[in-house]
Amino acid sequence: MTRIGVLGGGQLARMLALAGAPLGAKFLMLDTDAGACGGQVAALMQADYRDLDALGRFAAEVDLVTFDFENVPADSAAWLAERVPVFPSPRALAVAQDRIAEKTLFRQLGIGTPAFAAVDSLSDLHAAVAAIGLPSILKTRRLGYDGKGQFRLRQPQDIEAAWSALAQSHDHASLVLEAFVPFERELSVVAVRGRSGEFRSYPLTRNWHHEGILSLSLAPANVDEPLVARALQHARSVADELGYVGVFALELFELGGELLANEMAPRVHNSGHWTIEGAVSSQFENHLRAVMGLPLGDTASRGCSAMLNWIGDLPDCAAALSVPGLHWHDYGKSARPGRKVGHATVRADSALQLADALQAVGGALGRQAQVETAIQTLRG
Ligand code: AMP
Repeated sequence: MTRIGVLGGGQLARMLALAGAPLGAKFLMLDTDAGACGGQVAALMQADYRDLDALGRFAAEVDLVTFDFENVPADSAAWLAERVPVFPSPRALAVAQDRIAEKTLFRQLGIGTPAFAAVDSLSDLHAAVAAIGLPSILKTRRLGYDGKGQFRLRQPQDIEAAWSALAQSHDHASLVLEAFVPFERELSVVAVRGRSGEFRSYPLTRNWHHEGILSLSLAPANVDEPLVARALQHARSVADELGYVGVFALELFELGGELLANEMAPRVHNSGHWTIEGAVSSQFENHLRAVMGLPLGDTASRGCSAMLNWIGDLPDCAAALSVPGLHWHDYGKSARPGRKVGHATVRADSALQLADALQAVGGALGRQAQVETAIQTLRG
């Protein structure tokens, strides 16, 4: 039996533990919140990520460590890595935590990114806006997720407001200004690299966000094969360069046939949740196979899938479960605005059947707006 330590005890840790039981894995999660939802399905230790006594006790209880949460201090990951194998490596984690380091890596690998500039002062911000233009987005360099720590600048008058909203309220954090990309599609590659360098990618996924948070994913994304091949190649070159072990996601914007990399997530990813029912082996199973040094599982899709995120509160599952091919995931979290509390995946054998099923889900739950664009895409 392999004992797996997970830094972070949220829904990703919870789904890892559920996928790991058949592989004989046993889990210990570490989270700052004693009530984190992963603790409902596996052992959970409550501690600060910087508490070295707690990290020492955690390391003594497990055979390897992985992450559900990428904002664990990189120093803590490095400290653990001296005591127990940590996957992905603290270096991969450090690159993915820093928007400038990850974009710099993408560019070194020949992967396009939106224009960007580091911003550490109000005068830097003025210079960056002059260089990059408007509209643009100011983001915290670190610790951002789900659209948090972002401010959209539309006109020069927004500069001071953006500066006070981000720099001052985030304790004078380093920032980055990015060109706003009027993308045609948002896409993500969810892929896995094993300890031996074996690499597999899931079919490309198309994503729609609402207020900076993922709302719906569709897989496989219906895009041209050369574009798919380029996206998968980008993911592979990032993973190989970092010597990455485990599942990760590369988020891309598509504009005029070009791909621009937004960011990478060094962990299982929300846009890969459809793989639980919609692929031969799920991203959670494959992450565990990778970190445990086992052969990777088949990443092929089983038909077409759509994943709907439940943000803030859960709809009535009984109303949705009568839709054929629908699978429900309640994370066991309390309702709170902007919080991911669950998701549903709808799987079907064809795009048209999936469109019909989504129509039924939207109607049953009063969520027509959430499913509308995906239905139009599926019906072509
Ligand atoms: P992020 O936290 O960087 O993944 O941003 C969350 C979401 O905001 C993305 O998925 C996009 O929908 C949007 N977004 C972020 N950066 C940009 C950008 N440079 N141009 C256009 N939209 C963006």
